[in-house]
Amino acid sequence: MPIFQPRIAIVGGGPSGLALGQLLHQRGIRATIYELRAKSTQEELAKPSGMLDLHEESGLTAMRECGLWNGFQAAVGDCSESMRVINPDGVVLHTDEGELASRPEIARNALTNLLIQNVPSDTIKWNHKITTVRSDHNATTGATEITFDLGVNGAAAYDFVVGADGAWSRIRKLLSDAQPFYSGAQYVTATVRHVSTKYPHLVELSGSGTLCALGGGNAIMTQRGPQDSIQVYAAVSTPHEHWAAAAGLKGKTAAEVKTTLLGDDKLFRKWAPALQDLLATACDEETKDNPGCEADIKPYYMLPVGHRWEHRTGATLIGDAAHLMTPWAGEGVNLALWDSLDLAHVLAAVPEAADAAAWQAALEPRMREFEEAMLARAQVKAEETVRNKDMFLSENGAQAMADFFKMYEDIAAAGHKGSKMETVS
Ligand SMILES: Cc1cc2nc3c(=O)[nH]c(=O)nc-3n(C[C@H](O)[C@H](O)[C@H](O)COP(=O)(O)OP(=O)(O)OC[C@H]3O[C@@H](n4cnc5c(N)ncnc54)[C@H](O)[C@@H]3O)c2cc1C
Repeated sequence: MPIFQPRIAIVGGGPSGLALGQLLHQRGIRATIYELRAKSTQEELAKPSGMLDLHEESGLTAMRECGLWNGFQAAVGDCSESMRVINPDGVVLHTDEGELASRPEIARNALTNLLIQNVPSDTIKWNHKITTVRSDHNATTGATEITFDLGVNGAAAYDFVVGADGAWSRIRKLLSDAQPFYSGAQYVTATVRHVSTKYPHLVELSGSGTLCALGGGNAIMTQRGPQDSIQVYAAVSTPHEHWAAAAGLKGKTAAEVKTTLLGDDKLFRKWAPALQDLLATACDEETKDNPGCEADIKPYYMLPVGHRWEHRTGATLIGDAAHLMTPWAGEGVNLALWDSLDLAHVLAAVPEAADAAAWQAALEPRMREFEEAMLARAQVKAEETVRNKDMFLSENGAQAMADFFKMYEDIAAAGHKGSKMETVS
């Protein structure tokens, strides 16, 4: 008799979905990944895309288990682990070269590129958006069947569906009523390419890794990246979820948004000229590279800290779909990869079964355990994220962050070399 093969779908081709697809493929478990975006070209993947720092217990372990360690090592290096913290007057309060913790930075696009390398191309269905999903109990087979609608691509039914579909997950609706809520902060993002030839003084200011200029509840942060770039984020604290519209910035280019950012006393008008120059140059360069394009202004959302759901047969969530948090602890992608790793182990451990109902019954207790552990560790990281955000976007954010680093330096100096930093990306 042929061995029963469960029908498994992963919704979402971000870091969590792709890593899971890769890990299952390695273990000979078939799964189909549905991703709403088109497949990026190599040219698109080479563009600056924001940096993600991977942590030992999660992201780096996933890279090793995915068999991507050599590729990962080759893909890091655009952004060093150095950190510089300055206040709005331009006074440097902290610098380090990443010696407090080893957390290599990889560009988001480079990570995607790595993760799709060893997954057979017919496993990933690009341009496939799941619009609705439902769960039915089949009285004849005794199994649960998850069916989703794929719009023009029809419909599909599965024995097990993994919602790796990020902040606004469709699959989450099957399991939880929770909705992401606005965190109180927004980012305006702009990029300067070929910065060391065009603006060497900006490289001198921001260093080879990360710069955090914090104060008055706002921040200018930079990270070096591919194509000799600096990605610049202006983080703004505001209670207005629709700040861009309220401030008249909707539809404006980054160069136009610059006028508001640098002209408002509550934003960056009183900041040191060097920091203003950095922000202004980034906004102008962004518009030069993308003429007429609307500025990238994003409100940040999070799920309630401690988000949980009642386990249900046939579906689960991983990554941001399960525990969306703001980037202030640099944990989102790390947790996403950790979830994928654990879930791959769980699925690989399910013994052979005669049919879908028996397979689901064998999976059930393992899934309860998996979900419990995943959500418990995510809660700890989400709490840390909230603390970090409150600290860094406080009136004296730079001093608070410098004090935070000093505490870890003191611990290290006292000989507790094993202690790990918990900090921003
Ligand atoms: C500015 C910024 C900086 C960050 N910095 C860091 C950092 O330094 N360190 C860190 O650890 N984390 C960081 N994060 C968080 C990190 O990016 C996320 O936690 C991570 O991407 C989550 O991965 P994921 O696969 O769960 O979700 P996503 O990356 O959101 O991927 C979900 C995928 O699902 C697809 N999708 C969505 N809906 C559907 C649908 N209906 N049908 C089909 N496909 C769908 C999407 O197109 C997407 O590709 C940062 C986030 C931001 C925004």
